Amino acid sequence: MFDGLSQKLSGILDSLTRRGALSEDDVNTALREVRRALLEADVALEVVRSFTDRVRSRAVGAEVVKSVTPGQMVVKIVHDELVAMLGSEAEVIDLNTAPPVAILMVGLQGSGKTTTTAKIAKRLTDKSKSKVLLASLDTRRPAAMEQLAVLGKQVGVDTLPIVAGQSAVQIAKRAHEAAKLGGYDVIMLDTAGRVTVDEALMTEVAEVKAATNPHEILLVADALTGQDAVNTARAFDDRLGVTGIVLTRMDGDARGGAALSMRAVTGKPVKLVGTGEKIDALEEFHPARVANRILGMGDIVSLVEKAAENIDHEKAQRMAEKMRKGKFDLEDLRDQLIQMERIGGIGGLMGMLPGVAKAKAQMANANIGENVLKRMAAAIDSMTPKERRNPEILKASRKKRIAAGSGTKVEEINKLLKMHRQMADVMKMMGRNKRGGIGGMLGN
Ligand code: GDP
Ligand code: MG
Repeated sequence: MFDGLSQKLSGILDSLTRRGALSEDDVNTALREVRRALLEADVALEVVRSFTDRVRSRAVGAEVVKSVTPGQMVVKIVHDELVAMLGSEAEVIDLNTAPPVAILMVGLQGSGKTTTTAKIAKRLTDKSKSKVLLASLDTRRPAAMEQLAVLGKQVGVDTLPIVAGQSAVQIAKRAHEAAKLGGYDVIMLDTAGRVTVDEALMTEVAEVKAATNPHEILLVADALTGQDAVNTARAFDDRLGVTGIVLTRMDGDARGGAALSMRAVTGKPVKLVGTGEKIDALEEFHPARVANRILGMGDIVSLVEKAAENIDHEKAQRMAEKMRKGKFDLEDLRDQLIQMERIGGIGGLMGMLPGVAKAKAQMANANIGENVLKRMAAAIDSMTPKERRNPEILKASRKKRIAAGSGTKVEEINKLLKMHRQMADVMKMMGRNKRGGIGGMLGN
């Protein structure tokens, strides 16, 4: 899934070839792709806008280091800025106040509040040796209190006894008393959620906040919520002033855009990340990892570095132009073969592109190694210019002549022509997508 984004970012390389200071045009060209990548990663539109503005102001006029291209330079700035915006240091839960320290867990229904409450309780018990009391304030779903009690038992943490008919605020006060009496260090208050942010939910949570004076208010949010994450974060933060965010379901195929959106809108750190249903599936937040996930970069930075050294940018640009026009003859194929060989063969290049294992295996099956690339290029060299531009005129007698001239076999010429037809088809398709370059070609 991330391949698409990588392709787009590597596409930046093809369009930026000059050296020196980054011009506004350079940066804008690159940022168009970055903007698209961010939107695909589910970053909210308004955040995309402010983020690209920040990158623009940092990038325009930046001196391009000698050994890198402008495209690489922009990618690096985008990456660094993403990490900075996500928060460059890991944040921990703050227990630094007089016990019992109250931690209020808030968020929409199904975001993972109850599960995360138990996960954090276990972590605090194991790591900080804290004595933790859990209390469910979810009076809406009868099973919710039972769910927390079961989880508490599972992790060996006490839960407040369930008393029917009490309001959320009453339960919270009872929890506070019980914690003081029982010598608990921490009380974790698990609240009820709603499918969407609404006034009744906010009022209830605000009342609980007023009654318990929590030291941490953790907003639990599903990483898969994408664009909605901004509204959720803003609503909870405006009303309650959250102290941190826990992003759940980062084990799924969330692209991490929610992390950036929520962080950007609230300025509050993502403190922890949920990575599964199991009780110990809770991790610290690593901004650089999430930045990579948002950009879908795979190992694009090293791809960028290696490819840029070797690919002739002008040729790449001419190639992109041809693709757009749907033209791709044997002469172009030869150029591509030579480029592939220079960057360490198909294997070398493809190994660096994320998610191309399948294509790689296909190439291996078709027995296309570096030696084959050379032989193919040699065969094309033995053709006349007319033949290169019009492969369809290559009938048996011409093929025989070419094979003899290049030391190859007619069978190989046939394979070459087949490969060319397939590539031309792909290029036509890609041309329609207005993308070009070798990265795009191999990633497809
Ligand atoms: P609440 O309504 O906010 O209290 O949500 P729950 O804690 O009851 O969680 C709802 C569902 O999400 C449960 O099935 C959890 O097991 C699941 N869940 C919670 N956190 C994660 C996570 O990080 N990853 C995955 N895959 N599932 C999670
Ligand atoms: Mg719950």
